[in-house]
Amino acid sequence: MLTQLKRIVQEVNQIQNLDEALAVLAKRLQEAMKVDCCTIYLANYEKQHFLLMATEGLSKDAIGKVSIGFSEGLIGWIGQREEPINIQDAQSHPRFKHYPEVKEENYHAFMGSPIIHQRKVLGVLTVQQKRKRRFSEDEEAFLVTLAAQIALEIAHAEARGALNLTDDLTKRLWQKSLRGVPGANGLAIGEGFVPHLKFNLRNQILKRSTQSAKEVTLYREAVKKTRAEVDLLSDRMQGEVPEDVLAIFQLYQHLLDANSLGHEVEEKIHSGWDAASSLKMVVEHYANQFRSMEDPYMQERAVDVEDLGNRVLGHLMPPTAAKASIPEQAILVAEEVSASMLAEFPAERLKGIISMRGSNNSHAAILARAIGLPAVMGLTDVPLSLLGGKDILLDGYSGEVIVSPNPNIKHEFQQLIDEERELFGLLQEQAALPAQTQDGVAVELLINAGLSAELEGCNSGLGDGVGLYRTEVPFMMRERFPSEQEQCKMYRAMLETNPGKSITMRTLDVGGDKPLPYFPVTEENPFLGWRGIRLTLDHPEIFLVQVRAMLRASLGLDNLKIMLPMITSVNEVSEAKRLIRQAYYEVAEEAMQQGQSLAMPEVGVMLEVPAVLYQMPQLAAKVDFFSIGSNDLTQYLLAVDRNNARVSGLYDSYHPAVLRALKQICDDCLRLGKPVTLCGELASEPGGVILLLAMGYRKLSMNSFSLAKVKWVIRSLSLVDARVLLDEVLEMEQPQQVRNRINRHLEALGLGGLVRAGK
Ligand code: PEP
Ligand code: MG
Repeated sequence: MLTQLKRIVQEVNQIQNLDEALAVLAKRLQEAMKVDCCTIYLANYEKQHFLLMATEGLSKDAIGKVSIGFSEGLIGWIGQREEPINIQDAQSHPRFKHYPEVKEENYHAFMGSPIIHQRKVLGVLTVQQKRKRRFSEDEEAFLVTLAAQIALEIAHAEARGALNLTDDLTKRLWQKSLRGVPGANGLAIGEGFVPHLKFNLRNQILKRSTQSAKEVTLYREAVKKTRAEVDLLSDRMQGEVPEDVLAIFQLYQHLLDANSLGHEVEEKIHSGWDAASSLKMVVEHYANQFRSMEDPYMQERAVDVEDLGNRVLGHLMPPTAAKASIPEQAILVAEEVSASMLAEFPAERLKGIISMRGSNNSHAAILARAIGLPAVMGLTDVPLSLLGGKDILLDGYSGEVIVSPNPNIKHEFQQLIDEERELFGLLQEQAALPAQTQDGVAVELLINAGLSAELEGCNSGLGDGVGLYRTEVPFMMRERFPSEQEQCKMYRAMLETNPGKSITMRTLDVGGDKPLPYFPVTEENPFLGWRGIRLTLDHPEIFLVQVRAMLRASLGLDNLKIMLPMITSVNEVSEAKRLIRQAYYEVAEEAMQQGQSLAMPEVGVMLEVPAVLYQMPQLAAKVDFFSIGSNDLTQYLLAVDRNNARVSGLYDSYHPAVLRALKQICDDCLRLGKPVTLCGELASEPGGVILLLAMGYRKLSMNSFSLAKVKWVIRSLSLVDARVLLDEVLEMEQPQQVRNRINRHLEALGLGGLVRAGK
């Protein structure tokens, strides 16, 4: 059963055109289940009906014509109940509705399953048989499994199909709205730009061609160039890599042979596909065959076939396609946006970011917020290449991306951008005023830095120092660990930005969604794995070099504080402090020899793993200060991966459980007499600021871009009212109720303009 299922899904996946894919699906399903009829309906939510899209067994004339209302007949019933039905005789069922056009008079047995993707019914898959019988449990399981597997593909195909219209008129009249996860607030208009678009067959859209002779010539040329390239690579590596690695090049040459892949690709071209599409189909077929083999060595070969296919594809493409120039107003589209990608990009042209991977609290999103760029994350249903060169409207508040907008929408959007700019200007005017509530309570506002040193405005003079310097980014942008001297230089520059103010440097927090390219760690659950202090305690040589560099950098400035990430147990603090002391004595001695004295910096820990909530007194006895990493605390308390777009709806710092945890920590810190800062993203959200101040927090650390906004919120609010609000929301059941209540409060304070959307 599994093999049959796999085969059907793989075949259908390869067909880009949705109508064609559904037709093949209906045919294969009818054959596999040996039924008389198989039909697929897709939902149209605007029209509130299911449309017959493909059938084997009903009248083909009904395809695209017969529609069944959401509350009509057995199909509507399946959609409403969101579960399969299996009945012996459909015609005698009370919900049966007769549609003469489909010609189903002869069928009795009926089974149908909804096709559901992310809680939404996309369609219904049915099988029918002439004789009266109930389908077996196995048959039912088969249908349900197939419907579940095919759902994702239908969602993808819909997005792909809609984006790939070639006809100019349709293109002009058409605009497509895609939904991702809000990454960074703001609106942007620009042209999609995909940097280093490495040619990948996966992103290739199938296209027909009538010029088979020309396509064959193109293909043969590309193979010739690939052969030469593979030979060159193989020559270069001779003697440098083991024989079994070199054997891969032989496999490549063999696959390129006219009697191997080449033969099949040319056959596909002759059947009416262009060269790239033919190559894609053949390569994916081979790769899938390798992947389904039992022998792990053979399974691995799938990657080789795909790599080779991508090389040939690179030579099939016109050279200009490889180097598209950066548009004046660019929306950067990437599989995963990295700090180095942004550093390389001309800032004046960058208007917004779309990252296919990641979610609202991924570091790419935090980075976008830090430099004030609107961003949408987790746009998983669309191949990258389809957004390149397209006119795009990006709404970072709601996560909506509108591709090829019509002029009216574009005009409206531009007006919203202008209003936003005006509001921002207004905020900036007040940026230098003190951060004090209406009832005269002062709040310390610190800056989060490190994700992008030059872009973060640490030296703007605003803010009361740096509350979190993420040291990992300079590590991520190199090809090896930075030396002590290199680190010392970087840290010195940071400490000097605010000589009179404290700078809290966090020791290396890699792992999770921040991998080091030169120190690869492959884990099933990276956020629960070797991350932050866990990794650096296992590598004291890395930790010691970093701490020594920080200490040396602080000589004469004495404004350094050291902070430890991902602390779970007290012994991690003891061990880290032992190493810090060791580094301190080493550097202090060196300094003394030069007549300088070194101050011992304060050492604190991040509170971001829920376990620490229950060991506050024990931790307090060992440290000078605490800082709450609400991004991770939310992720670990709610057991929701902050980097996974699929569960982004569940990741919510306004969850009453998270708010209660934050309140408890604040109460504990007051009782234990330890200073506490909150340095997660919550500190830069207007609603978060109100709740945190009401809880008792007086130190907030955020990206410098949010500073003016947060100051405005603080200056507008009264703590007495904020406490009433807090008491109310702590009793609530749902995060959404909390958000709604906070938004009402913000509106009442005249801050509605800051919250355009729910998140
Ligand atoms: C946090 O977890 O809230 C935090 C500030 O650290 P990071 O986002 O770098 O994990
Ligand atoms: Mg963290």
